[in-house]
Amino acid sequence: MKKILFVTSEVHPLIKTGGLADVSGSLPKALAELGEDIRIILPYYQAIKTNEAIYYKSTIRINDSEINILETQLPGTNVIVWLIDYPKFFKLPGNPYHDATGNAWANSAERFGLFCQAAVEIAMNRGYLDWKPDIVHCNDWQSGLVPALLSLELSRPTTLFTIHNLAYQGVFPKSANFILNLPTQLWESGGTEFHGMLSFLKSGLTYADRINTVSPTYALEIQTAKFGCGLEGLLSYRKDVLSGIINGIDTDHWNPETDPNITANFTYTSLNKKQLNKAALQTKTSLPISDKIPIFGLITRLVEQKGIDLVLNCLPDILKLPVQLVVLGSGNKEFEQQLIDLATANPDKMAVQIGYDEELAHLIEAGLDIFLMPSRYEPCGLNQMYSQLYGTIPLVSKVGGLADTVVDSLPDTLANNTATGIVFDGALAGTLIEAIKRALMLYNQPKAWKQIQINGMQKEFSWTQSAQQYIELYGQL
Ligand code: ADP
Repeated sequence: MKKILFVTSEVHPLIKTGGLADVSGSLPKALAELGEDIRIILPYYQAIKTNEAIYYKSTIRINDSEINILETQLPGTNVIVWLIDYPKFFKLPGNPYHDATGNAWANSAERFGLFCQAAVEIAMNRGYLDWKPDIVHCNDWQSGLVPALLSLELSRPTTLFTIHNLAYQGVFPKSANFILNLPTQLWESGGTEFHGMLSFLKSGLTYADRINTVSPTYALEIQTAKFGCGLEGLLSYRKDVLSGIINGIDTDHWNPETDPNITANFTYTSLNKKQLNKAALQTKTSLPISDKIPIFGLITRLVEQKGIDLVLNCLPDILKLPVQLVVLGSGNKEFEQQLIDLATANPDKMAVQIGYDEELAHLIEAGLDIFLMPSRYEPCGLNQMYSQLYGTIPLVSKVGGLADTVVDSLPDTLANNTATGIVFDGALAGTLIEAIKRALMLYNQPKAWKQIQINGMQKEFSWTQSAQQYIELYGQL
């Protein structure tokens, strides 16, 4: 059994803005179930929601400020969560990264700098908690100073840094060094400095003993200029300690056999009932009810990363085909308007809902025939996994976690029953429409189609499997 301190800026269900919270809620739970002694450290934001009791544990001093450490539990588990209580920074309306008016916190460097310094005190057993971890597992830029500061300590725990999204880097003016009272020896081009600025992410990537990201393919891609966000040089230099582990998904919440948000529950042995969800989705979105017309869909943030502009470019061609299309998403206002305009002009072929709607997302997954995910980059991605479990064929670009979790339908993979979707190469509109036509050809071969659905529905995407890979990685540290 290893002692692991898990450092993160958000944890579902306490506080969530995105995918990091899902990982930070699910992975420690799965690791604890496998017998690891894992404890989470998180800022005590005003927005944290929990019914669990919160206790005072101790007080530490950082840069002449007094910081309280509180203790609670991850709801529904025995995992201890230590909350870093510093009201001046965290007891304010807003979310971890933005104030109540939606602006990024002006003092983000101080907020997460202090959080990193508190994590180091706990990691070195100087937090009066009588517990010293073997491993400190850091996540994304908000924890990036932890490996840097620990590198200066004697008999320190080893460090793992997980990249969930390389695009967010936590880069601040040089003056942040003085405000945070950082040791001067860290400030060098091979250290915390990034083009004259202080980079939290680069600090983590430079000083961590191991680095991983959320899929093996993304781990390779980020070593190239196309995907590396300016850090490809450092990442390829550190390639011997860099690897990828696919995220799991919450299979209690995403299970077509028990999902309360869909019209008819089904399994791979009762796939005919999926049809009832398709009809319900068509009814709900005012599309003509037909079990013969294949229905495509997307649930996504409407941003370029997700290739939504590629879909828009070839939508005129798509709409000439015998298909229906459902889109649920929000984001870029121009993309939203273009989608609305196209749906208004083609009401019997296309339906668009702008907004975030968890319940509808489940019905869409259950009712679609084909899920589109033409992302430009995708560290891991979730919907391609949900789709497979719901008998919906994912049509994905060959990047990141999509390449690692979807098996293209080719003569050999169809023959050996491993095919689970359609994978296309290159994020170009031309290849997307070709892939869509390929999906239609397969759709018109009901026996092959059903086998692809069954192959996907039988795949294992649970957290237990991913947690076991993290335990192996911890073992190598
Ligand atoms: P990312 O974190 O880059 O947005 P992921 O595929 O990893 O992409 O996760 C996004 C999650 O958010 C998925 O579970 C997806 O279904 C959900 N989601 C995105 N947009 C919406 C929406 N408009 N309504 C409901 N769920 C959404």
